[in-house]
Amino acid sequence: MDGSWALLSGKQVLNYFQVNSQEGLRGKEAKRRLLKNGSNSLKEKKKLSLIGMFLNQFKEFMVLILLVATLLSGLLGEYVDALAIIIIILVNAFLGFLQEFKAEKSLAALKKLITPRVRLIRDMKTIILPAEEVVVGDIVLLDAGDRVPADIRILQTDNMNIDESALTGESVSIIKVKEVLSKNSGNLGDCVNMAFMGTLVISGKGRGVVVATGMDTEMGKIAHLLQEVKQEDTPLQKRLKQLGKFLVLGCLVICFLVAFLGIYRGESFYMMLMAGVSLAVAAIPEGLPAIVTIALAIGGQRMIRRKAIVRRLPAVETLGCATVICSDKTGTLTQNKMTVQEILTGEQLFTLSGESKQIWGHFYCEGKKINPQDFFGLKKTLQAAALCNNAVLQKKGITIKPAWRSSKGRQFSFETIGDPTEGALLIAAIKGGIWREEATAKMKKIKEYPFNSVRKRMGTVYKDAAGKQQIYYKGATDVIIEQCTSFLSGKRIHPLNAEKRREIIKKEELMASRALRNIAVAWKELLGNSALVKEPDVGLVFLGVLGMQDLPRPEALEGVIKSRQAGIKTVMITGDHKATALSIAKKLKLFPRGGEVLTGREIDSLSENELISLVDKVYVYARVTPEHKLRIVRAFKAKGHVVAMTGDGVNDAPAVKEADIGIAMGEIGTDVTREAADLILGDDNYNTIVAAVEEGRNIYDNIKKFIRFLLSCNVGEIMTMLLAMLAGLPLPLRPIQILFINLATDGLPAMALGVDPADRNIMQRPPHSPQESIFSRGLWQKILLQGINIGIFTLIAFAVVYFQGKDLILAQTVAFATLILTQLIHVIDCRKTEENDPNFFSNPYLLAAILSSAWLLYIVIYHPLLQEIFRTVPLDVEKSLLVLGFAAAPTVVSRILYWYRS
Ligand code: ATP
Repeated sequence: MDGSWALLSGKQVLNYFQVNSQEGLRGKEAKRRLLKNGSNSLKEKKKLSLIGMFLNQFKEFMVLILLVATLLSGLLGEYVDALAIIIIILVNAFLGFLQEFKAEKSLAALKKLITPRVRLIRDMKTIILPAEEVVVGDIVLLDAGDRVPADIRILQTDNMNIDESALTGESVSIIKVKEVLSKNSGNLGDCVNMAFMGTLVISGKGRGVVVATGMDTEMGKIAHLLQEVKQEDTPLQKRLKQLGKFLVLGCLVICFLVAFLGIYRGESFYMMLMAGVSLAVAAIPEGLPAIVTIALAIGGQRMIRRKAIVRRLPAVETLGCATVICSDKTGTLTQNKMTVQEILTGEQLFTLSGESKQIWGHFYCEGKKINPQDFFGLKKTLQAAALCNNAVLQKKGITIKPAWRSSKGRQFSFETIGDPTEGALLIAAIKGGIWREEATAKMKKIKEYPFNSVRKRMGTVYKDAAGKQQIYYKGATDVIIEQCTSFLSGKRIHPLNAEKRREIIKKEELMASRALRNIAVAWKELLGNSALVKEPDVGLVFLGVLGMQDLPRPEALEGVIKSRQAGIKTVMITGDHKATALSIAKKLKLFPRGGEVLTGREIDSLSENELISLVDKVYVYARVTPEHKLRIVRAFKAKGHVVAMTGDGVNDAPAVKEADIGIAMGEIGTDVTREAADLILGDDNYNTIVAAVEEGRNIYDNIKKFIRFLLSCNVGEIMTMLLAMLAGLPLPLRPIQILFINLATDGLPAMALGVDPADRNIMQRPPHSPQESIFSRGLWQKILLQGINIGIFTLIAFAVVYFQGKDLILAQTVAFATLILTQLIHVIDCRKTEENDPNFFSNPYLLAAILSSAWLLYIVIYHPLLQEIFRTVPLDVEKSLLVLGFAAAPTVVSRILYWYRS
């Protein structure tokens, strides 16, 4: 960069972009700029064109050989055969292309959903937009955990630290300032009043004006150097690719054997060459990885409908194996609709009525209605709660003002912009007649010490007209009270002795055991009016504790029970008080008799091994920090669990990354945790995790089903040919017929199995182990048994007809029809699992696939032109019944065998 923005003052930059830092751009103007400059995104590497994708289908070795052989046969005069085979290859390639195209599109749709969002000011309002829509001149708000969306000249900062390693490779984070720079070193790292696209805010917060977007940013300039993030293969895909190599080899050997035996026994060389190659093309399950991707991607889309967004496809698989879900409490297991219900001051306990989003309610003390204005301690507590607060209350985008105190404001419900906890505190203050706007008319906020889940407190410093400064604190009671040396009683400040401290803690604990989420507030007059060098966090005056009700989500109870039946343990991990956490856990029935609670402090006193030995007994972790979360994940993993862990704050990213399934919050989460996560919850709801696990299990089941189908059909095709050659029979299927079988029965029914609805009892069985092979639990045996069955019965059908009249074409038609119908009956059988025998009509796609394949078979046998091409003859009733009987036989036999074995 030329560094010029860093050398201009904030005001100059704002003037240049014709924007006011408080009001932001007008929506219309932003739209105009977006049209003019284009979207704020880095250009992606050119994707494979549609034609390229289609041509890609011909790069399979066996398909190429088949093409060459077909062309040769065309040259030798077999025009009809050659043309038909080429058409089949083309249709096959088109189906392959469609599969790949669909997989690509689903993946792109998933990717779109996870683009970061940005908080910015437009039309005087704070709004959230996708990063792509940011334009130059936009006023952007940055917070810990945010990915910087564009290049920004910083206008305001509260200890904002940015990690620029993504851009500069420098691992030390940089403290940003708003002041103008005097010289330009030409080095990005020295531009401390700038924030660059793609870098990460790790602490503090700030505001700035966008000076460059998209490819004009510093990141844009090096975008060509950035490596594309490749969609990684899932463990299953990797294993299937390995298996694929083995299968290809096996198939080739057998196909060679078939061709060799045929030629040895006097069949024509050309016919056997074509038969061998066609068989190889049909039997090699080249479509398997594509169908697995489709099943995963379609499953991913189904999850989106249930509000779970998969960031990495492997997670879909792992989800089905989850044995523990570690969930945050606030907002995930609870509704995040907070209402202050009790307020404890240095002297009394008050209760408060009224709805969570309304500014109207009554205060009571010892059962009697009171006027909060008569209680100085209460007023001061509410004032601190309002002043140490960034939430904004709005009605249809308009910020609430003291004038709304009148009856007009009483009828409305308001929405909170910002932290719901702070919104609830603001509403409680207004109910008590305290308006932040009125207080801040007399003093100005000059500094903020932001809240984070490690500090568990937040402070704001205000300065009045006379230059006197005071600091207001709010945070977890145990943290705040440790900083207090006195408390307010009446209008007087008294020393906070050990006895009073104990009394407050005891009363607060009682509030927590009533499931209230408590926030303590404190305050201090600062001496002198010089700038603060160090955070003045000791010697505070304790003011009070505000207890908020945050009810459990009604559906979470059902979710917890469902998880338990599915063999998954739900663990609550919260920054909140032990008693609050326990009370909510009991309401949600996730805390069994004999269960244990651990606090962050207790975890600190445990060694790794001690934690590992305890972890199975603990159901609630309270007052934890993100570091504890990491230790908990590791302990569970050491015990062999597959852990799903939620996180939202910037510091949660390591734990989310470490978990087998990292889960981030879509609504309140930070960009960093979202980037570390495998799964994002669109609605921050615990039940969405359970739904995702259910989908994960279903997808795994479906992959198993179509692998079983495809491979047993392939084995069946190979067996038919091999056994015929070994038994000295003529060729039971012509090359073109083999190719047609591959086309008509393999693709569509297999894909339809990929979207099979879930088993009724999918959440009533234990999770499978991630180490477990997809072929375990007898799948190999089933595939081989059914494949051999299919081969034998097709061959018997062929032999019976052949020896009856020595009519080879008729016998081949019978074998052809038997093989296709066997597969269409077998596909229904593949839906059956040990626990479930689903309704025949419950998968309409499969029904449609079976009917269309059966129809194709019908016209190939009964249409004169197709008879010519495929060398078929119409079957009479007797032969049709024979075909049906032999087609049903393999499934009947395998059912009898299973029944006998079990
Ligand atoms: P969970 O981890 O389940 O989401 P939580 O929201 O209570 O629970 P944290 O956000 O880490 O967890 O909060 C821990 C404690 O910090 C809370 O119990 C509360 O006392 C206090 N706290 C929460 N939000 C704020 C805030 N905005 N300002 C000051 N203190 C807060």
